[in-house]
Amino acid sequence: MTKVQNGDGRIVPMTCAGCGMKMNPHAEKPVDPVTRADTERVDAAVSALIEEIHQCPDCGNVQSRRV
Ligand SMILES: [Zn+2]
Repeated sequence: MTKVQNGDGRIVPMTCAGCGMKMNPHAEKPVDPVTRADTERVDAAVSALIEEIHQCPDCGNVQSRRV
C-alpha cells in the first residue's frame, strides 16, 4: 500500500484552498529524519514520513500535507 512513488506521477493532486485549482506536486521531503541515511531508511521501511509540497499554478498558493 504505497502511496508515494518518486517521479512516478502517482501523487494525488491537492486542490487549492484559495481558488480551487488542481495543484502541482512541487516537492516531497521527509519530515522526521535528520540525515540522508535516516531518510532512506524511514522511506523504505515506513513510507509514511513524507511531506508533499504542492503549489497552485494559478494563484501561487503553497500547501503541504503528510502522507
Ligand atoms: Zn490557487
